[in-house]
Amino acid sequence: MVPVCPGYGIKERLGEGGFGTVYAIKVVKLSPGMSNLDLLEEEIYALSQLSHPNIVSFIEVVEHKSVKHIVMEYCGRGDLRKFLNFHLELCATVPESRIKSIFVQLLLALHHCHHSFFGEWSLLHRDIKPENVLFSENGTVKLGDFGLSKILEASQQQAISFVGTPGYLAPEVFAGKRYGAKADMFSLGCLLYEMCALDAPIFSGKDNKQPIQDRIPDTFSPEVKSLAGSLLQHEPSKRPSSADLLSRRYVAEWLREIS
Ligand code: ADP
Repeated sequence: MVPVCPGYGIKERLGEGGFGTVYAIKVVKLSPGMSNLDLLEEEIYALSQLSHPNIVSFIEVVEHKSVKHIVMEYCGRGDLRKFLNFHLELCATVPESRIKSIFVQLLLALHHCHHSFFGEWSLLHRDIKPENVLFSENGTVKLGDFGLSKILEASQQQAISFVGTPGYLAPEVFAGKRYGAKADMFSLGCLLYEMCALDAPIFSGKDNKQPIQDRIPDTFSPEVKSLAGSLLQHEPSKRPSSADLLSRRYVAEWLREIS
């Protein structure tokens, strides 16, 4: 997967627990012609405003030899890409209970970004993909990498830049139209599909005319299948928002199961 807008940075583990807390650091890698520092400032600002158990915690920014480093909570159990690859190698389906747990935690993180962030303003993540879904040492799901995030007036369709990762991009982003929080909801649907089908991203250019629901194995419940179908609707207004989903009875049930 090649990001449309290149990201920056590497992660380093600072040390092994025991005597202290372990943090992750993101170091800026400057690439020619890119305003990485502007991107970094946006990422730092977005992360510093967010405080949620399912979002990677921002600790501080440290400048060393003119290079900025974002210090953040370390998520020691890897990312969703590694988790999916592990299951793929074993040819083992991810249990539905695990998928529901990962899904609702991401939903809570996105709801915080879209609705609870900074009063009238909302934050679009714009790069929801398995690599940016992390697991902390105790297995809690943490949404990370706010490097492409964008602050918008709540409920408005404003973002117009074509950023994100092919395979997880909503059709309106691809079409260069204005878009809003429903574009993140589409990407969340892509993740749900990928966790169930253990397949390449649903919109990877494969010529597959089968309806989305039918591409998810029958071992999954009709609720999960129809949820994926509704999030992956072409028309943004037909997709549920995070608030819509949180008011559904079965989602409340999934939330009870993780608490
Ligand atoms: P980039 O913006 O360069 O893509 P990311 O922020 O997406 O960088 O991070 C790249 C990878 O580093 C992630 O896919 C994940 O595996 C790992 N990573 C990112 N943040 C953390 C963290 N806080 N703790 C542990 N690993 C992390």
